[in-house]
Amino acid sequence: MKFDVMTLFPEMIESYCSYSILKRAADSGIISVNTINPRDFTEDKHKKVDDTPYGGGAGMVLMAQPYVDAYESIEREQNSITVMLSPQGEPLNDKLVNDLAKYDQIVMMCGHYEGFDERIRDIIKPKEISIGDFVLTGGELPALCLIDAVSRKIEGTLGKIESADEDSFSNGLLEYPHYTKPREYRGLKVPEVLLNGNHKEIAAFRLQQSKERTRLKRPDLYEKYENM
Ligand code: SAM
Repeated sequence: MKFDVMTLFPEMIESYCSYSILKRAADSGIISVNTINPRDFTEDKHKKVDDTPYGGGAGMVLMAQPYVDAYESIEREQNSITVMLSPQGEPLNDKLVNDLAKYDQIVMMCGHYEGFDERIRDIIKPKEISIGDFVLTGGELPALCLIDAVSRKIEGTLGKIESADEDSFSNGLLEYPHYTKPREYRGLKVPEVLLNGNHKEIAAFRLQQSKERTRLKRPDLYEKYENM
């Protein structure tokens, strides 16, 4: 999977991706993360990438020329999708992450300030994706959420691919609780069933716990699960 991230702040993307699981995935060639800075494409001698909005109002708007030229410089794979990170987009969820993981390349457009000149949308026609009904200062965190979540779905990124299969949402439920050593901490004991080595009993206990916590924490999900 190739991630091409259009951003005015490439260091934000590079920094996050140079740690832990994403770094390991990049080092072993499972993913690659490249950044493209629209500021390198501006025709303005002061390297301006934003300007005041026509019609007035607060904030600065990202100009079309540097963004569109930067976009057109990106080499495209055949199986590629372009995503604009935007609070107005389709909400990101596990199903959408799975769909995105089927591509070979995701080009991502991070906005900043007031957002994009509308003609950037008109020309590029990206799929707009939101990470929730709130507004952040820029698209870099949402882009990183997407890179991280999609990378976990690609075989080889995690030590064992099964560990993604059992995560919350993969079967429509929240995941069961986990415990590790010691067996007792501050008087709280690990449930006995996890210690007996009976895999059938353990699976039944975990499913029951998954259902119970989904019912309590996310009744909306639970209802969907019950009607599946
Ligand atoms: N004026 C825009 C609006 O009200 O729809 C918000 C612009 S926001 C301050 C700047 C940039 O941050 C956006 O262009 C987008 O790239 C990113 N952004 C902010 N919130 C986001 C969210 N919930 N999901 C995805 N991207 C977001």
